[in-house]
Amino acid sequence: MKEITDVKEAGLAAIERSNDLNELTQVRNEYLSKKGLVASLMSGMKDLDASLRPAFGALINDCKEELEKALKQKQEALTLVALQEKMAKDWIDISLPATKFPVGNLHPLTLVQQEIEDIFRSMGYRVVEGPEVELDLYNFERANIPADHPARDMQDTFYVDSKWLLRTHTTAIQTRTLEKSADSLPIKVVCPGKVYRRDDDDATHSHQFTQIEGLVVGENITLADLKGTLQLLAKSMFGEQRIIRFRPSYFQFTEPSVEVDVSCHICNGKGCNVCKGSGWIEILGAGMVHPHVLDMAGIDGTKYTGFAFGLGVERVAMLKYGIDDIRHCYTNDARFLSLFKRFE
Ligand SMILES: [Zn+2]
Repeated sequence: MKEITDVKEAGLAAIERSNDLNELTQVRNEYLSKKGLVASLMSGMKDLDASLRPAFGALINDCKEELEKALKQKQEALTLVALQEKMAKDWIDISLPATKFPVGNLHPLTLVQQEIEDIFRSMGYRVVEGPEVELDLYNFERANIPADHPARDMQDTFYVDSKWLLRTHTTAIQTRTLEKSADSLPIKVVCPGKVYRRDDDDATHSHQFTQIEGLVVGENITLADLKGTLQLLAKSMFGEQRIIRFRPSYFQFTEPSVEVDVSCHICNGKGCNVCKGSGWIEILGAGMVHPHVLDMAGIDGTKYTGFAFGLGVERVAMLKYGIDDIRHCYTNDARFLSLFKRFE
């Protein structure tokens, strides 16, 4: 029994001496684990005379309880100390200015593309996309550009093989849409996307650029609808004062075809170096969808008509923001790109 009291006193002293939770765990293992000192005292009970066992047992239980109570108190005290130390160490000065992360902005081409998409969405158009690696069928054949047409010249087109190529215009999205929607007219879509041509890059030419084309097919669609639509586009993009004019032109996809000029937004039509003194700036190609194009897509050209138009996003961005070199659009100079923050 003297031994029990000694173990208890030693245990309480060891608990008191513990400086952190690790030390305390070691003390717990030493005294209270299955092979600890208290357990080994307990195992001595079987060697005792039966009359002594109750008092012995009571003493051991008391020893165990006191050690457990002391351990619990010490553990709480040490946990509190550890928390206070951590809080003291991790102290944050909330009055310091926060770390600033540089925030980017949208690319000028994205800004123009989104603006044009929004204008057409407000008129009920859907935005449709298509693959950049395209079949000859949709890029040329269905666009009414047969095998011997100069636009197919190796100088102009990046061919992947005899069937596949990098699309040279977003007209490929239109021919796909015509085929897909032949049984669910009317069609009213705009088709934005990157296109590729074998061009030597300079201030106004690029091997990769962005187009947006529009297509409307239905009953009683006329050139007047096209003109009204493009007039609204010109005013939305370049200001309420803008007017447009049509000049006769030729495209394979449309018949009749027109080039569309908008009155110069810099000089209001008086003549300046942007419009080369003419007062007009060419921004679009357009026309009525060629009946043969409708035929090839399985649409009855005697019942339905349609118009189509296409514009270069780079060209519009350059006019709108006064960009003097198309290469700025893809060389990703952060100083140039950051200029467009204010337009968002
Ligand atoms: Zn001008």
